[in-house]
Amino acid sequence: MTTETAEKPKHFIRQIIDEDLKTGKHASIATRFPPEPNGFLHVGHAKSICLNFGLAGEYQGSCNLRFDDTNPAKEEQAYADAIEADVRWLGFEWNGEVRHASDYFEQLYTYAIELIEKGLAYVDDLPADKMREYRGTLTEPGKNSPSRERSVEDNLDLFKRMRAGEFDDGAYILRAKIDMTSPNMNMRDPVLYRIKRQHHHRTGDDWCIYPTYDYTHCISDAIEGITHSLCTLEFEDHRPLYDWVVANISIETRPQQIEFSRLNLEHTVTSKRKLNQLVTDNHVSGWDDPRMPTISAMRRRGYTPASIREFCERVGITKKNHTIEMSSLESCVRDDLDKSAARVMAVLKPLKIVITNYPEDKVEELSAPNHPQKPEMGERTLFFTREAYIDQEDFRESANKHFKRLVLGKEVRLRNAYVIRCDEVIKDEDENIVELRCSYDPETLGKNPEDRKVKGVIHWVSASHSLPAEVRLYDRLFNVENPGAEDDLVSTLNPESLNVLTEARIEMSVKEVAPETRFQFEREGYFCSDRIDCVDGKLVFNRTVTLRDSWAKVEKKGG
Ligand code: ATP
Ligand code: MG
Repeated sequence: MTTETAEKPKHFIRQIIDEDLKTGKHASIATRFPPEPNGFLHVGHAKSICLNFGLAGEYQGSCNLRFDDTNPAKEEQAYADAIEADVRWLGFEWNGEVRHASDYFEQLYTYAIELIEKGLAYVDDLPADKMREYRGTLTEPGKNSPSRERSVEDNLDLFKRMRAGEFDDGAYILRAKIDMTSPNMNMRDPVLYRIKRQHHHRTGDDWCIYPTYDYTHCISDAIEGITHSLCTLEFEDHRPLYDWVVANISIETRPQQIEFSRLNLEHTVTSKRKLNQLVTDNHVSGWDDPRMPTISAMRRRGYTPASIREFCERVGITKKNHTIEMSSLESCVRDDLDKSAARVMAVLKPLKIVITNYPEDKVEELSAPNHPQKPEMGERTLFFTREAYIDQEDFRESANKHFKRLVLGKEVRLRNAYVIRCDEVIKDEDENIVELRCSYDPETLGKNPEDRKVKGVIHWVSASHSLPAEVRLYDRLFNVENPGAEDDLVSTLNPESLNVLTEARIEMSVKEVAPETRFQFEREGYFCSDRIDCVDGKLVFNRTVTLRDSWAKVEKKGG
């Protein structure tokens, strides 16, 4: 269990728990995270995970992982496996075995029988259109179905035959008998069971009737002894039904449903259904495409579990829905990686330089710290040679004084190495710059020249002593702030969200790097070795996030 800071703000759920423990309503707390295994978890789920597991950790309680698997049509074991991996990766461990709503199908059925026997549920055969009509509207009360007064015996008989598979799909439903005139539509005799001949990924063909979410969720909570059932605001109107079901069945525990606001992020969608569409229609390479807002994609992109937990903590828990800027998420990972990521030099778009006054066969070993503020992270060896690469962006034939990089006839420092001057530009027939002829000042290793100022510092790699790498730069997946609100999600996709650079060169120290290792490429950003494509010695890096680059703004104006 993870707790980053000792003193956390007492949001309203913490206050409720404090009170419940103080008054002795509960001796300890039990929460649960209840995903439906119909897709991969996204950043919104991370908020719920951090809240549920986080509270259990803080209060020495327990948190269950329960798959809400009542909708067999859309559910798959592969999703369940991915969800478990994501929760663990975020740093949490659930209490005991993984639970499933489907583990309770038999108990749920027994409770339904109890409700029928108490005259609190009935079997209905109203056709769908009549069902809608009888339900009324927000402004008009509903009407009782003619089946509402069916006898307990008949209801029991019909419900058992529903289970036995005697009827066609949709021929009958089981409904709670509550109040067709309730101003809360959820209380107008809601459906408890439907006939659906569908194969279930866990219970196979054992059942042809399936309980509804509203009926299942509260009972599952009660069976597991959940004390605080935390869910998102859209379930507020379902709370009276939640309480009604638990109050009317023979069960001791009374879980309390508490709603909090969903996490919405700008420039992305947090809906498994919509994300599924992007995957199915191949707009992304999969659920873990680093542009996706899923936890597995963020992991692949280089986010750390700590940065996601910190983000959820900063977002906080309230009752007010709002949309968070992507920059808040990015600043969490930047802060974390700034502290922990080793620095290396990588040249994303190489431009060859030849240092004409440096001996042809000489290879000089230089040393550079892995982290500027953390000597304990050690040092690495850089190789200085006559031929090297700098980034194309770091050279201009002419520029004004704001361009603090290499300019023809001027000097710049190669980071961790010498000061060089560009003496000549070599171009091809089409006037493209293909090479720079430079000279170096041997007196400038680790010290500045005394007679002149050299302001700029650029990164570089040796041509012979560097490795080829593929570097993937990511931009927003969507061009609009709230893509989820658009009718056509696909039309809002950013066609430039992926930029693959195949010619990049990186220093030797990353040779044989493990997948999922995070670095700061100096002056470029934070990058992570791809956990899937770094195979057979191939180096592939995903850009996690750019650096906060204060000087870049100034520089844009110049040269
Ligand atoms: P989706 O629309 O993406 O399928 P969902 O709410 O249907 O979302 P579930 O798998 O049912 O997904 O959700 C599991 C838990 O995560 C629920 O308790 C739900 O309230 C919570 N959750 C889902 N999305 C968010 C979000 N954006 N912010 C906070 N909690 C969320
Ligand atoms: Mg759902």
